[in-house]
Amino acid sequence: MIIAVDGPAASGKGTLARRLAQHFGLNHLDTGSLYRAVAFRALAAGADPADPDAAVAAARQIEPSDLADPRLRDDKVAQAASLVAAIPGVRTALLAFQRDFARRGPGAVLDGRDIGTVVCPDADAKIFLTATVEARALRRFKELQAAGGPAIYERVLQDMMLRDARDRERRTAPLQRASDAFELDTTALDADAAFAAALRYVGGLKPRR
Ligand code: C5P
Repeated sequence: MIIAVDGPAASGKGTLARRLAQHFGLNHLDTGSLYRAVAFRALAAGADPADPDAAVAAARQIEPSDLADPRLRDDKVAQAASLVAAIPGVRTALLAFQRDFARRGPGAVLDGRDIGTVVCPDADAKIFLTATVEARALRRFKELQAAGGPAIYERVLQDMMLRDARDRERRTAPLQRASDAFELDTTALDADAAFAAALRYVGGLKPRR
């Protein structure tokens, strides 16, 4: 079984995908970490993440062990990730890894922006999460505060709006709901309520084969 979970930043994709994977005994891939790892490599090499040659070279060097680096969680890396993600050659370089991961073993839950539309258009279940940008910025602001770092809500909101615009407006694999995806607005839902709604949707699907 393959489950695609897509949506904008801080819509609750990661938490939902992890819980679905645990519930159904599937592997889980946070595909955002791939783009973050490419951005991190480009920045570490002193390159401009918007430079196609540098970004594609970084994408070709990605190792699975890169994905667990806690430095990928930095918001500067997230912004740079949305720059490398707009480069078609970067997306092509990362596609085979994602598809191989999805096909392996008992199946997988992949979360990202283009899983239901491009990476796994034949996924058994597709969930598209939404939430207002204010609610998502508030979640991220609280996470930053809890981690003890400096955080200014207006700044977090601006960064999120910028990243949303880049992800929605790019020409290659933009963030959009697949026509056959179940849309779930998490603005007023906590993680338990979102998980319960997603389970009702997956449980109500007819087996494909
Ligand atoms: O999900 P996360 O916030 O970690 O993703 C970081 C960035 O990677 C996103 O803003 C987006 O530009 C890019 N991304 C993407 N396609 C995916 C996953 C992430 O373009 N499937």
